[in-house]
Amino acid sequence: MPATPAWPPASTPRLFVDQPLAADSEIRIEGAQAHYLSGVMRLKAGDPVRLFDDRSGEWLATVSRVGKRDLMLCLAANLQPREPVPDLWLLAAPIKKGRIDLVAEKACELGAARLQPVVTRRTVVDRLNLDRLRAHMIEAAEQCGRTALPQLAEPVKLEALLADWPEDRALIFADESGGVPMRDAVSPGPAAILIGPEGGFTPEEREAIRAVPQAKGISLGPRILRAETAAIAALAIWMAVAGDWSQNKTG
Ligand code: SAH
Repeated sequence: MPATPAWPPASTPRLFVDQPLAADSEIRIEGAQAHYLSGVMRLKAGDPVRLFDDRSGEWLATVSRVGKRDLMLCLAANLQPREPVPDLWLLAAPIKKGRIDLVAEKACELGAARLQPVVTRRTVVDRLNLDRLRAHMIEAAEQCGRTALPQLAEPVKLEALLADWPEDRALIFADESGGVPMRDAVSPGPAAILIGPEGGFTPEEREAIRAVPQAKGISLGPRILRAETAAIAALAIWMAVAGDWSQNKTG
């Protein structure tokens, strides 16, 4: 059945698949995704599924065969191209498991293009499970309708990050000791938001960050926020003043 405003229904499962999707092809779904579609969602032959591959946008597919451990899907129509994502990176110091997972999930939902873990002097979490963070971002992308996944970068030390800072990218640094409001720090073009760990930045780090010509210290208000709250709040206000929340949504 061709895609129409009423088809596929809003309840149609939506999945990321890590393989290129193309018109009229058939793909095999295995493992946890197959279990989800046939065991949890109880899909049968002919039922619709929405797929995206982070390359070619979103597709409507229909189940062609349900096996014991796998499912075959037929690609029916391209529903939308891969979206343009605002060029915003989130640079966040690793924090405890559940909290960094939340940051990964929310960064995806809020529209960040990339999550870059940054190791600072007071970072206490020394092992970061990137596979787990990526799984959280994929689940968030499936749920929120993204057709482009945020990139997840390997952790980098703050000094190395600053030494190699791209000339054309604004560095918006959330400074609990004070700064300008976000609306006075944004400029058109690529940007990054830097958030410290639970213990904050050291005075030397603060100085090194401020020495980067593209850096601007911002305040997120008079209260000290937890690192994950600061990350989520900063992403939201950046999206509202400089990202894609300022456009009218149609359709
Ligand atoms: N322990 C520190 C607070 C760290 S909060 C202290 O007591 O001073 C963790 C991070 O969240 C900070 O490094 C900063 O990047 C961000 N943050 C928290 N509250 C903020 C605020 N009011 N303004 C700007 N950034 C803030």
